[in-house]
Amino acid sequence: MRDLIIIGSGPAGLTAAIYAKRAELDCIVIEKEAISGGQIINTTEIDNYPGLYHMGGFDLGMKFREHADALGAEFVEGNVVEFSRTDEKVTVKLESGEVYEAKTAIIAGGAKHRPLSVPGEDRLRGAGVSYCATCDGAFFKKKITAVNGGGDVAVEDALFLSRLCEKVYLIHRRDEFRAAKTIVTAAKAAHNIEFVLDSVITEIKGENKTEAISVKNVKTGETKDLAVDGVFIAVGMLPESEVYKDAVKLDEKGYIIADETGKTSAPNVFAAGDIRTKALRQVVTAAADGANAVTSVENYLHSL
Ligand code: NAP
Repeated sequence: MRDLIIIGSGPAGLTAAIYAKRAELDCIVIEKEAISGGQIINTTEIDNYPGLYHMGGFDLGMKFREHADALGAEFVEGNVVEFSRTDEKVTVKLESGEVYEAKTAIIAGGAKHRPLSVPGEDRLRGAGVSYCATCDGAFFKKKITAVNGGGDVAVEDALFLSRLCEKVYLIHRRDEFRAAKTIVTAAKAAHNIEFVLDSVITEIKGENKTEAISVKNVKTGETKDLAVDGVFIAVGMLPESEVYKDAVKLDEKGYIIADETGKTSAPNVFAAGDIRTKALRQVVTAAADGANAVTSVENYLHSL
């Protein structure tokens, strides 16, 4: 039986793969997407990973993967649909029906885009409603778009789109931003970004494609329609933890409860990256988690 199954190939999973290979563990990485790298492959620039100033997110993801490949890490593509454990082993079933077993697992499955859950969002998804400016921004050249959110992703998306679009509305439910001050300052300086603060989108309108959004000011209660060709929703992430809920304890938001050693409520299951409870979800902390989780796996295997 293998020593370890790593689920996820973002910065946490790929770092875990690198550390696991260096520790000569018999392991396999299960990745959901055809391209490794996780969320960063859709991030224009990662400006805060030490030593790699102005690094493209996609390029950084590829570098992590090349590193894991160079050490001989084994990858399989598949969607985990069942996850169970006993004190002897962990069993993972993929959508394809394939089953993998190992003595331990590191869950590094990350998080997915949080929907706004407003009328029109589902119907117009892919018809002007997008969750990834880097992926879809090019469809909106010289058009009018809106970005919803106040975190790093929303402000970075607004800046990215401002270079392509005629105009970008940046809609945020408060008047203070969670995003890094430097990028908020840059967005304020952009001539074609209009800040719509203390406001929420209540509906996305359009027949077959997005034509307008209804925006409500939460302080005054006033609602107005803004004509837009596209709306980019960047209101945070939801952990991809549903399938693990019977095997390990989750917090009230669905994150796997684990400290920086990656230890969960189950002795042979570890969590790393955005899927676990933590204060700061960044590439650098995800990578650190991957390293820590492998160290915990090694300690656990030595204790058997
Ligand atoms: P985030 O930091 O959690 O921000 C989510 C934003 O959406 C917040 O401003 C939040 O408002 C707003 N929001 C949440 N639910 C909403 C709703 N239902 N309606 C309207 N607004 C809503 O998420 P993120 O921007 O996706 O970033 C995720 C993580 O990745 C963060 O830790 C971020 O720092 C990191 N990241 C880092 C970089 C980088 O280092 N270069 C780049 C991208 C992302 P409130 O502020 O009012 O809560």
